[in-house]
Amino acid sequence: MEDASIMEDASTMEDASTMKNASSREDVSSMEDTLSSEDASSVEDASITENASTMRLLEYQIPVYHLPDYLTNCKIYNPLSDVNITVDGLVLQVLYGSETGTAQDVAEQIWKSAQRKQRQSTVSSVDEYDMRNLSSRQLIVFVVATTGQGDPPANMKTFWKRLLGKSLRTDLLENLNYGILGLDHFQEVRLITIELPYKIKYNPGDVIYVRPKNSIEQVRRFFNILYGHNIQLFPNTMVEVKKKEIKVPLALQCRLPLKEIVEQYWDLNFKPRRSTMHTLSLISEDKLEKEKLYEFASPCGQEELYNYINRPRRNILEVLVDFPHTTSKLNIRLLFEIMSPIRPRPYSIASSSKATPDKIQILVAVVDYKTRLLEPRFGLCSKWLKNLKINDKVTFRIQKGTFRFEDNKPIIMIGPGTGVAPFRSFLLEEEEKKKDLKECILFFGCRKKDKDYHCREDFERLAEKTNLKVFCAFSRDQDYKIYVQHIIREQRELCWQFLQNDGSIYLAGSSKNMPNAVRDEFVDLVKEIGKMTEEQAEEFIKDLEKKSRYQIETWG
Ligand SMILES: Cc1cc2nc3c(=O)[nH]c(=O)nc-3n(C[C@H](O)[C@H](O)[C@H](O)COP(=O)(O)OP(=O)(O)OC[C@H]3O[C@@H](n4cnc5c(N)ncnc54)[C@H](O)[C@@H]3O)c2cc1C
Repeated sequence: MEDASIMEDASTMEDASTMKNASSREDVSSMEDTLSSEDASSVEDASITENASTMRLLEYQIPVYHLPDYLTNCKIYNPLSDVNITVDGLVLQVLYGSETGTAQDVAEQIWKSAQRKQRQSTVSSVDEYDMRNLSSRQLIVFVVATTGQGDPPANMKTFWKRLLGKSLRTDLLENLNYGILGLDHFQEVRLITIELPYKIKYNPGDVIYVRPKNSIEQVRRFFNILYGHNIQLFPNTMVEVKKKEIKVPLALQCRLPLKEIVEQYWDLNFKPRRSTMHTLSLISEDKLEKEKLYEFASPCGQEELYNYINRPRRNILEVLVDFPHTTSKLNIRLLFEIMSPIRPRPYSIASSSKATPDKIQILVAVVDYKTRLLEPRFGLCSKWLKNLKINDKVTFRIQKGTFRFEDNKPIIMIGPGTGVAPFRSFLLEEEEKKKDLKECILFFGCRKKDKDYHCREDFERLAEKTNLKVFCAFSRDQDYKIYVQHIIREQRELCWQFLQNDGSIYLAGSSKNMPNAVRDEFVDLVKEIGKMTEEQAEEFIKDLEKKSRYQIETWG
């Protein structure tokens, strides 16, 4: 159950118990009526899920800023008595499951709004809530944001485990009044083509390491901070750092304008670490700032540092602004000490050098998300790649990835989302070699067929012309969720047949829940179709792994 997404968790929770009360559908639709078209278009990533008496989960697009008012005014529909009960008189208990603080922020808004309306209410993280206190005199509002690629936040997982605990009363959820807000996020994916100056041979499974740059806005912001704190360093200031002064990469051991260093070598998006805080605490001469920085650098200040930096994903520029007196003490040597170099990011190559020898294609999921901070967060490299214009230059290197494909044996490929990239590379290469692909299965997964079925035309063509077997899981195209593990289950006879014929399994994509869910499915499949015990099936899969017949390449 832990592997299911939040929405699935919510619906299963409903199925597993006899909860009767739910928010009224009329309230939600009247809320929708009040939205202007401008409002509606501005909320791509916020949705409210209503639990209606039909026990179906329906999604409504409502801007986050309307939610507090909506919830504190809502009525509860009781299907047994067929009446609406107002929530007046019930204690509003807002519980949030949050990884980066977005859901926490919404939960706190709801709570504050209730306080303003003199409603008795509390707010807390789901995992801090003592479930034995659940009662029918409460209205529980769960606010949960997914993280990564639709995964539940860690504190929600803890809560869910406890909820399934045997020690809880079986009638605990009876007569519970509740509502669920699911904050969702749709990730943009781009197929990016890099034109090579000359032909470069690369193989399916190879990985390209791309070195991104900071955006012009971030660079400008950096220099504005220096200027605003009277630091005499400007974009055209020539800098030469001696190796013996401080450890610098080879590329920087020459005279360069500071702008170049800032744009190309320092990651302006990086999350300051404890050591950064320590360095800043040493140079600070302001009592308050020094104390705070010292605390962040000390062992007992680590939770606070986590809440200040990691949870909201604060970057170095924001920290410098928060500590103005300390920032004004910076000089070039100290900047080299506190700034972190830009790391090249690996991407699985999605093209075939046989088919397109002068091109490399990559499938990039653009990282952008919100935290409790006002400004949206973004991923340095994926955003940079997204914003590249034709003829912009890309610095990269190519390396072997973990996959070793064998094209003379049956293969089962599982690549949801951008995980399909290395398999596209392999399949296009095989197509170029004029191979028949009837011994290849591709399991692909995404949210919606019409929205994010990447490279669909390639896979449809390969299925038609080369006999590739393609099976897709579109998780959001129906009322219930379908993931790759579910479609593997549907094809278990075929998978077993492939494995019996010396076939191999290749899996790529998100490192969160998917790899384990798929592995469990294969263990089940071997157990069922191969007629083995649980232990034998586990041994069978372990043996495949040992013999490199079960290879994975994942990222998170
Ligand atoms: C072998 C390999 C192959 C890969 N292949 C691909 C590929 O084909 N396609 C692809 O898109 N990526 C791929 N990746 C991942 C890729 O290397 C980058 O990690 C990814 O693009 C993010 O880099 P970035 O610079 O945009 O983000 P960064 O600036 O590095 O930020 C990423 C960080 O942001 C945080 N974050 C991200 N989303 C959220 C969220 N919703 N909520 C809170 N925090 C969040 C996480 O801490 C995450 O680590 C691969 C990785 C490996 C190791």
